[in-house]
Parts: sequence; structure tokens; C-alpha cells
Amino acid sequence: MSHAPVKIHRYKEGLFGVDWEDGNRTALPYRWLRGHCPCAHCVDEWTGVRRVGEAEVPFNVEPVRVESVGRYALRIHWNDKHDAGLYTYDYLRDLTAKWAQGPHVEPGAAPACGSKGGCV
Ligand SMILES: [Zn+2]
Repeated sequence: MSHAPVKIHRYKEGLFGVDWEDGNRTALPYRWLRGHCPCAHCVDEWTGVRRVGEAEVPFNVEPVRVESVGRYALRIHWNDKHDAGLYTYDYLRDLTAKWAQGPHVEPGAAPACGSKGGCV
């Protein structure tokens, strides 16, 4: 494994941080990260359709514990009692790139012109 976490942070701004062996850094908002949980409960195994996303997750969600799994993943135990998601190192790095690209639109967010009456 060419990249592994050297250090894991819980930034007070509500970001989950990983310092990687190769010098890269990850810093992702808890709720966004929880909304990208890759487990079979949150993503339908057969169709790949996400069933639990950021909009379904409490605003104050945060990790209570992080566990290393093998040498390839982190299991994040969340304060909403969810701990089924294995965030592989590759997946975390993909998410880091995805977050960096933005834009950060929450699924289910109301359209800017309001939900009633449309944009006329
Ligand atoms: Zn999950």
C-alpha cells in the first residue's frame, strides 16, 4: 500500500481529517462524509442507488470513534449509531478529490426561487 493514514484529526470546525503517508491531506465535513457512507444500508448493493445521503443524516452528526480495518480502510462509528461503513483509503481519497471539485449542493435542498409557485 503506497498510501496509508499517518494521523487522523477531528477538526473543531467539524471536519474529519486524514494526513496521508505521501503528504496529501484530507479534510471533509462530518455530515457530508456520513452522507457518502458506502455501506449496503446506505447504498443499494444491486442498483448502486444511494438510499441514505446527506439530507437523511442529522445536522449534528459526528464520529465518535475511528477504527482501522486491515491495512486498507477506516471504520467510522457515528453518533447516530451507524458504523457499517468501511471507508477504504482509496474511497477517502476519491471523496477528497470530489469535495475539492464542488459544487456542494445538498440533495433535496429547496430550489433558490422557492418550493411554491416555481420560478415564474
Ligand atoms: Zn452506511
